[in-house]
Amino acid sequence: MHEYSIVQALLERVDVEARARHAVAVARVRLAIGRLAGVESELLRSAFEIARTGTCCADAELEVRDVEPCWRCRDCGTELAAGDVLRCPACGAAARLASGDEIVLESLELEVA
Ligand SMILES: [Zn+2]
Repeated sequence: MHEYSIVQALLERVDVEARARHAVAVARVRLAIGRLAGVESELLRSAFEIARTGTCCADAELEVRDVEPCWRCRDCGTELAAGDVLRCPACGAAARLASGDEIVLESLELEVA
């Protein structure tokens, strides 16, 4: 499943970060997930519960923040509201997705010995 491979990659990334900072454990993991990323946050949470056993995230809390999609004009950068026609009201050029399809590790709370 898609969510399991995301969680595997996340745990590897967190492990690298935790080691680099000499942490003994991870207390909290904050993720930002775009609504267009194609990720079910409930599935992601259950995948995290299973996959974290035996890792530095064994007792970590997972926080997931949903990010609303945002479109911008590719020419002049004007931001378009969700639900608008995907054409710039200022110059008429086509819009592109500026955010909303990303998965970002926003922050970590680490326990250091
Ligand atoms: Zn424009």
